[in-house]
Amino acid sequence: MNKNIYLTNNLKNKKEKFIPIHKEKIGMYVCGPTVYDNPHIGNARPLVIFDILFKVLKSKYGKKSVNYVRNITDIDDKIIKSSKEKNISISELTSGIIKNFNDDCNYLDLDKPSQEPKATDHIDLMIEMISSLITKGFAYEKNNHVYFEVNKFEDYGKLSNKKLKDLIAGSRVEISENKKNTEDFVLWKPSSTDEPLWNSPWGKGRPGWHLECSAMSKRYLGDIFDIHGGGIDLLFPHHENEIAQSRCANNTKSFANYWIHNAFITISNEKMAKSSGNILKIKDFKENIDGQVLKLALLSAHYKQPLDWNEKLLNDCQNTIEKWYEVYLSIDQKITLNEDILSPLYDDLNTPGYITNLHRLFEKALIGDDNDKGLFVLACNFIGILNKTKDEWISIKKKKLLISEDDILIKIELRNKARENKDYKKADKIRIELLDKGVLIEDKDGKTIWKLK
Ligand SMILES: [Zn+2]
Repeated sequence: MNKNIYLTNNLKNKKEKFIPIHKEKIGMYVCGPTVYDNPHIGNARPLVIFDILFKVLKSKYGKKSVNYVRNITDIDDKIIKSSKEKNISISELTSGIIKNFNDDCNYLDLDKPSQEPKATDHIDLMIEMISSLITKGFAYEKNNHVYFEVNKFEDYGKLSNKKLKDLIAGSRVEISENKKNTEDFVLWKPSSTDEPLWNSPWGKGRPGWHLECSAMSKRYLGDIFDIHGGGIDLLFPHHENEIAQSRCANNTKSFANYWIHNAFITISNEKMAKSSGNILKIKDFKENIDGQVLKLALLSAHYKQPLDWNEKLLNDCQNTIEKWYEVYLSIDQKITLNEDILSPLYDDLNTPGYITNLHRLFEKALIGDDNDKGLFVLACNFIGILNKTKDEWISIKKKKLLISEDDILIKIELRNKARENKDYKKADKIRIELLDKGVLIEDKDGKTIWKLK
């Protein structure tokens, strides 16, 4: 495809044409889950957004040209706390959450990243990077702790547009007597005996959280790569610290060239928070809502804008998918998507614009031929919508019916008898009864047919 991809690069604070370092070897790193609790709908947003970016990059540069790395944080203070609270071992906790996380990704029908490295498999490289930072004078050790000395890195704050002196003034970072300056951040810290620990030149302990992404991106993508993504909450300090560590340890003038961040999700206009009791877990939707409905809802706002999650949004998306299945057709191999259809996605992942295109293609498919229908389904499939066949979609709905098919036929017969006897009140009562159970009946050409609501 000749069309260019544009992305809002937070490193430059503007939308830019995406120019990869090597067209055949594009590197994208996205901060993945910290596996201490089951993922919630806020975690689902970056998963879906960066999956779309992965798909867009693959469509332009070829499937094998994109190396998408999404890490798993399996050592962290939250994990230690949660395993203590639940009274289970850390490995039991993390392996259970990783399994649930993978189930959620399958439910959302996401493409598997090229690599999903775990932090605990890369402790050696982290220790190596810390040693190098100490040798170069960017980090110091005190009482078995190692800190990165922020004022030694002159570009600190460039990504988040923060000035070091403002940071110090408004500092809410951890104050410790071991630190030279309040804004310095931890690279290594000692563990107590009941916490996971690794041997290091600075005693038994564990790495600071920020360091793992610097280590894993280095291993799988090299010192300088194309795209780094994550939720906007990670921009500062996490991503700022990643840049500082990596550039200083690797002796480079840059780290990732494009920094992409997705905005928050609110729940009925309220901030999602444990204290508000409004945290919606992905797994809780599975029973009643199909993954593609959830995905359409997650893509309904542009990734840079906050997305408000509410009942109406889900209902609208449910109805849309329902309607779109009316023109479902198995795809003919010959049909391909053209640049015009994909252009909203190439333009800074404009998913609402793409969904508008899908509505337009649907209207065309309704009155058009098989080619129009196939093109519409293919365009839906590109973002993982209409990814089930119509038969699969109907059978899922049938499972949710509150009445058996035999009973539906009996009720229809009873209703027809009532109508013959001109007992329209009774006939109408049966119709409403069926509707409540998810069955819609229609009288057509002297016959009564039923459909799923
Ligand atoms: Zn990270």
